[in-house]
Amino acid sequence: MPELPEVETIVRGLEPILIGKRIKTLFFLSPHLKKKQPAWALRPETYKDQKIEKITRRGKLIIISLERQKGLLVHLKMTGQLFLAEPGRPLDKHTHAVMTFYGLKKELRFRDLRKFGLINCLPKSQIEEKVAKSLGPEPLEVKLKEFRRLLETRGRKKIKSWLLDQKIIAGIGNIYSDEILFQSGIHPERLSGSLSLEESWKLFRAMKSVLKKAIRFKGSSISDYIDSLGQRGEFQKLHQVYGRENQMCRRCRAARIERKKIGGRSSFFCPNCQV
Ligand SMILES: [Zn+2]
Repeated sequence: MPELPEVETIVRGLEPILIGKRIKTLFFLSPHLKKKQPAWALRPETYKDQKIEKITRRGKLIIISLERQKGLLVHLKMTGQLFLAEPGRPLDKHTHAVMTFYGLKKELRFRDLRKFGLINCLPKSQIEEKVAKSLGPEPLEVKLKEFRRLLETRGRKKIKSWLLDQKIIAGIGNIYSDEILFQSGIHPERLSGSLSLEESWKLFRAMKSVLKKAIRFKGSSISDYIDSLGQRGEFQKLHQVYGRENQMCRRCRAARIERKKIGGRSSFFCPNCQV
């Protein structure tokens, strides 16, 4: 599933090309997406000539802001892809929405193999409400004091599950939670409220540095992830624990990476480096 670094990479790729462009058409091609739209959102005049004002990321969500107080909320979920394609490129059965623009040959396509992903056209106020209700602060913006407060107030969760909880902190998924915990030397089953001051500081720093580095490397392409121009990310080559079960730990070279289900999700960690 695309996480913060992948979604950020997509947004940064789309921004310079799409900001200020006016929409010619937007078609939802699949019944499962049509069903999710309000009736007005299926009418061509809703989009025609609408200018793309802003493209932002919040957690793992993409928000495309249009004129007239409307916006598109995009959630890629497991296998969603949002990318620019040449119009001549054939549409396959996994392409569920296509947007075309004035003054741009390429079109924006939403492709999703497993159909858990979503594009929703909504009034901006409703998008803001949804975001505020379902997402905690951004990991790259949150301050240490607030981070520690969240560790304490939501302290009875295993730290792996704590990092995955979008309501506590937004944008981190299975890959980056494992990489962050490895870098901070914290075992994924520790209770979040049990971290010492030093440990919470290490976790805070690792969270920022792992996510920033992953953005620099344009995310991790494990299965379906591609960026807005169809390119794969590079960060998977730098994973220290994720997907490395039974391989030697790159840091201590004294233990093999273990894999264990924690809160229903696979976790990779070094039993020697993470305590
Ligand atoms: Zn190790």
